[in-house]
Parts: sequence; C-alpha cells; structure tokens
Amino acid sequence: MTTGNAHENNVMTGRKLVCQVCGLGGMERLLDLGNQPLCNDFLPAGDAPGPQTYYPLCICFCQPCSLVQLDYVIPTEFSFGDQYTYLTGSSESLIKYYSQLAQRLTDKFGLQPGDTVIEIGSNDGTFLKAFQSLGMEVLGIEGASKSCEIAVAGGIPVVQQFFGRGLSGTIKKQLQPRSKIRLVLAMNVLAHTDNINEFLAEVGELMEDDTVFVSQSHWLAALVRKFEFDTIYHEHLRYYTLTSLTRLFLRHGLHVEDAELVDFYGGSILVYTRKSACGESEGVKSILAEEAEINIIESLRNMKQVLLNNRARLLSLLVDLQNAGKRVVGIGAPMKASTLLNFYGVTPDLLGSIGEVNQLKIGTVVPGVRIPVVDEEILFAEQPDYALILSWNMADFLIPKFRSRGYQGKFILPVPQVEVID
Ligand SMILES: [Zn+2]
Repeated sequence: MTTGNAHENNVMTGRKLVCQVCGLGGMERLLDLGNQPLCNDFLPAGDAPGPQTYYPLCICFCQPCSLVQLDYVIPTEFSFGDQYTYLTGSSESLIKYYSQLAQRLTDKFGLQPGDTVIEIGSNDGTFLKAFQSLGMEVLGIEGASKSCEIAVAGGIPVVQQFFGRGLSGTIKKQLQPRSKIRLVLAMNVLAHTDNINEFLAEVGELMEDDTVFVSQSHWLAALVRKFEFDTIYHEHLRYYTLTSLTRLFLRHGLHVEDAELVDFYGGSILVYTRKSACGESEGVKSILAEEAEINIIESLRNMKQVLLNNRARLLSLLVDLQNAGKRVVGIGAPMKASTLLNFYGVTPDLLGSIGEVNQLKIGTVVPGVRIPVVDEEILFAEQPDYALILSWNMADFLIPKFRSRGYQGKFILPVPQVEVID
C-alpha cells in the first residue's frame, strides 16, 4: 500500500495541478478546508494515540470540463480499503429507498426475471438484494472487504475488487451463459473512483445496446444550496452537475438519455445513459436549466466566510455551555462529521462523545479530533443537556425520532447556521 507522499497517480505528482478528467492545468481553487485526516479512518478508542496522516482538502474548478474536483487524489484502494465502515444496510431509510428504486427501475426499463443487474460499488449488497427479490440475476463489484463479506453472507455474489481497467472481462466470466446485462449501477461511486476515465471506458465494455448505465451522484447544486460543505472529503474526488456529467460521459461515448433529482443525501442526481445517442428528455432539460440559474461557482467562492463565522459561533457556544456546567454529546458519526469537526476544531474537551447506531463505528474515535463514538442509547439513558446533531441535514427526521424515544434535552444544529432547538 502506498503512503501519503507516494500516491503514484496523484494529480499533484510533479507539482503541477491538472484536471482529473482532461489533464489540463489552469484550475481555480474555490474553497480550502485545510489539511484533514481521511474521514473514514475511525481507529479503535482503546488504542494509544499515534501519528495520523493529514491530506490537503481543497476544491478546484476546471472550466473546460465544468467540473469541480479536489486538488489532491488519494487512490481508491487507500480510501476504501479495510478501514472503510460505511454500510448502506445500517440505515432503515436507505434500505427502503433502494428497495423502492429497484422496483421503479425494473418498471421503467421493462426488466424481466432472469435479466442481469450489475452493481459497481455494491457495498453490503442492500440494493442488489432488492433486485434479487424481484427475480433478477445480480452481481456486485466491491473492493472494501468488510462490506463485501456482509454482502456475500447475505447471499449476494460479489467480485471483491475495485472496478477499473480489465475488470469487465472478469465480470462477464462470472455471469450465466447468454445472460443479458440490462442494468449497470453505480450509486455514489463516480465521485469516488481515482481514475474516472479508465472507469467509464470499462463501463462501456460491459454495456450492450439495450444496457442502461444508472448512476447516482450527489448534486453539486444541492451541496451549494443546502450548504453541505461537510460532504467535501478526500473520498469524494469530484462534485458533479448534470452539465459536467454529460460532458464526462460523452468523452466515453455514453449518451445521457434521462435524468432526475432525488432526495438522497440531501439532493442527488440519477442519470441514465446508453451507448446509442438519444434526444434530451424533459428531465434533462429542466435540470440543466436549473443549474444554469444557480451561480454554483460564485457560491462556492463565498462559502468560506460563512464557514468561518459558523466555526466561531459553535466553538463559543460549546465553551459557554461547558462553563455553565452543561453536558453536550454529538449524535451521528457519518463521514461528514469528520470534515465538520476537524474544520471547526471541536475536540473531546468540548464534545465528550458521539452517539451512533453503526456497530462498526461504536468503540472508535473520530479521525483527527479523536472524539469517542459510543452507542446512541447514551442519549436516552443519560439525558445529556444538549445533543449536537452531526447528521444535521436529516434533522427534520431525527429530532422527532429522538423526542419520541424519550430524549428531553435541547438540540444544536451546526449548519447552515449554528442554532439551538428547545
Ligand atoms: Zn478538465
């Protein structure tokens, strides 16, 4: 495994900053979140503190590609290796979302039992399981070992490798003779892969004329509108609009047939592409028009000043509460909590612990700031005075849920403005 200073495919190798897609220089730096540890690098709480590697976390803009991207690329196998602990099946709402989407895609594209569905980055197999229950043949491709083990244990066949050059041959060998690949799925994967050009060339190899490539990506316009700066992290190498995705796909002979916005991660785009050219759907036209209206790049340039104010307010609030003898715990330790806590500089002295439901995260510490992650039950059993909601984008869903389960304290939202909710 390579180390932080020796990432062979880094865009900074040779000290020249170039676009991850077109290879041209001249990119503009939009928002610099400083140096941060990998947001998935949750280490066991019992371990003695040791060195932790920090990497630059700054987003840039390539005008010709219309693409916002990080200025430092960490290889996929490094950010999504053994330490990767994100599990789709740990969230009931995600299980429901993927189950409904599987049904919807089956109807939309007229899939028949026995058709093959392939998912790149299949995680713990949640999505494929939904297709399997509809009678489809399924195959996952997943490089992260823990997720892979869970999928296989649940009866989902998986090729345990990161998708890239040469893998389409391996995949085809695993399929039943005469099987028809109708869907290739890449849900929240296109932002993660370290070599997007190789990745999409290989997707093309898997596809036939009636294969639809379905991708879901966080929508940059939603990030800007909802101020989700904490979804900027090293694992998320590119930040897409439909405009930039369309240009990217075209480089690889893939044509966008349709697209829709979905309320996933606070705003994502589902994009359907085929090898054959097709007209622009109403969905595509309407999203492109919406993107043209929002001044995304200028908003990103302006985000830093608001973030600096938020940081000062939250730290001041936490210090005041501590002086007043109040107890504050965090709730939820998603990847974005790492970006937020590290950029804000919230340490264990200000936030003693974070409650979480993901069993793989309980018993670890948040990267960099080293705040212990404990069972979410702490909120109900110990009734701390304040709960800092780190999955703040889901606050409307979480607050009533915590109330109904008996939490009586106050809530703090750290974004888009620091806010206390009684
Ligand atoms: Zn470019």
